[in-house]
Amino acid sequence: MSDAPDYGPWEPVIGLEVHAQMLTESKLFCGCSAKFGAEPNAHTCPVCMGMPGVLPVLNRRAVEFATRTALATGCEIPRIARWARKNYFYPDLPKGYQISMYDEPLAVAGGVEVETPEGTRRVRLTRIHMEEDAGKNVHDAHDDHSLVDLNRAGVPLMEIVSEPDIRSAAEAADYLRSLRAILQYLAVCDGNMEEGSMRCDANVSIRRRGTTELGTRTEIKNMNSFRSVERAIDVEIRRQIEVVEGGGRIVQETRLWDADRGQTFPMRSKEAAHDYRYFPDPDLLPLVSDPAWVEEVRRGLPELPAARRDRFVRDHGIPPYDAAVLTARRDVADYFEAAVAAHPNPKSISNWIMGDLLRLVRERKLDDALVITEWPVAPDALAKLVALIDDGTISGKIAKTVFEEMVAGGGDPASIVEKKGLRQVTDTGAIEAAVDAVIAASPDKVAEYRSGKDKLFGFFVGQVMKATGGKANPQAVNDLLRSKLAG
Ligand code: ADP
Ligand code: MG
Ligand code: ZN
Repeated sequence: MSDAPDYGPWEPVIGLEVHAQMLTESKLFCGCSAKFGAEPNAHTCPVCMGMPGVLPVLNRRAVEFATRTALATGCEIPRIARWARKNYFYPDLPKGYQISMYDEPLAVAGGVEVETPEGTRRVRLTRIHMEEDAGKNVHDAHDDHSLVDLNRAGVPLMEIVSEPDIRSAAEAADYLRSLRAILQYLAVCDGNMEEGSMRCDANVSIRRRGTTELGTRTEIKNMNSFRSVERAIDVEIRRQIEVVEGGGRIVQETRLWDADRGQTFPMRSKEAAHDYRYFPDPDLLPLVSDPAWVEEVRRGLPELPAARRDRFVRDHGIPPYDAAVLTARRDVADYFEAAVAAHPNPKSISNWIMGDLLRLVRERKLDDALVITEWPVAPDALAKLVALIDDGTISGKIAKTVFEEMVAGGGDPASIVEKKGLRQVTDTGAIEAAVDAVIAASPDKVAEYRSGKDKLFGFFVGQVMKATGGKANPQAVNDLLRSKLAG
């Protein structure tokens, strides 16, 4: 969530088309595995290779996943959705058409709540439809010919289309994060942009602030991280402003983002729908949704990020900001709740997760996994650490040292404290001795302090902490110093 840049009199208008690969076992219309990473063409059969004379059979699970997503985003589910053929020729599409949905999609008219610096905004969804993925052309393996890998051909996708409701590049990234969180909570897509299981095309136009008509848009492709989506859109907005202010016109076209050069380049002029010669697929029956089944899917929906955020504020009494950060990922929210169940100090646990733990996760690049199995510190271990602070065994400062030990070697915080002798000194006798020694060692400073130089108090605290290896109870040190220095 960064600040919106200033585009002067121009207002950006952005709509996103997101393709999300569904986490089904098998492909959309055949029994082949939908898993990523096999030998080229290992996951193929006559159906997904486009052989003549075979018929597609719909994967029920994929319909369930898409329906879950539609319900979680408040879409309406029309009684009938229809499969359509989108015709184009490309070697990675062996049938010569993609099975998709056109004018009768699975779901319409939903919305995604997006957290922005100005508060929560709802980005409307136009539609969600299902379609099959294409294969992959491999051009760089040989100089004189290309190869085709059809493992991905027929893998189920959802296309989630937003209305042109987004008003800045940062907001586009925030929208994608919210959407990804929903997909991850629903366990229908892993949301990994780097690996392409969540892909985004950005439609961008500009208009004069205060006007409502839509300008001519370009569509940007080839962005494979939240960061590149944000950069690409920002760069495209600036390019369009420059063109228009220079007296030119925007042409409707598809442009490719080049992350290395930080620019977008034209790829092709935009096809119109009639170029694809869409028509209903005669091999597949229309998808008729049974309201009872839809209700069953609705009842099975898990708690979603927004509801969980509100519950964290209500039940755990943490600030809305904390709750938003913690619930942005399902695994982080699960972690928080497990730790709080072990030791009910939600605010302190939240601070540790948002500070130390998420920093580690970022450093170790664990951000993109759906479920973090390699958390450096388990929830109950963090809970024990916070409990040690709360019962006065260690200070917050020493806890940082213990935490580092836990990350480095794992292990129980209490045994680390014992082994390293980090237990807080609360014994007033020992602290008093250290205080006396410090006062005796610096008669000049004591005199200055007593003549009104209050700022020296921190110096004395520092000396006592140093003398006790940072283990003295800070409150006891403060109290003793105040009374003795007053003397
Ligand atoms: P297509 O399938 O040809 O790309 P759609 O009508 O499905 O066309 O629109 C795709 C996306 O473009 C949607 O997300 C929509 O919100 C967005 N969009 C449409 N017109 C504009 C515009 N003038 N400026 C920005 N985005 C737009
Ligand atoms: Mg498009
Ligand atoms: Zn197959």
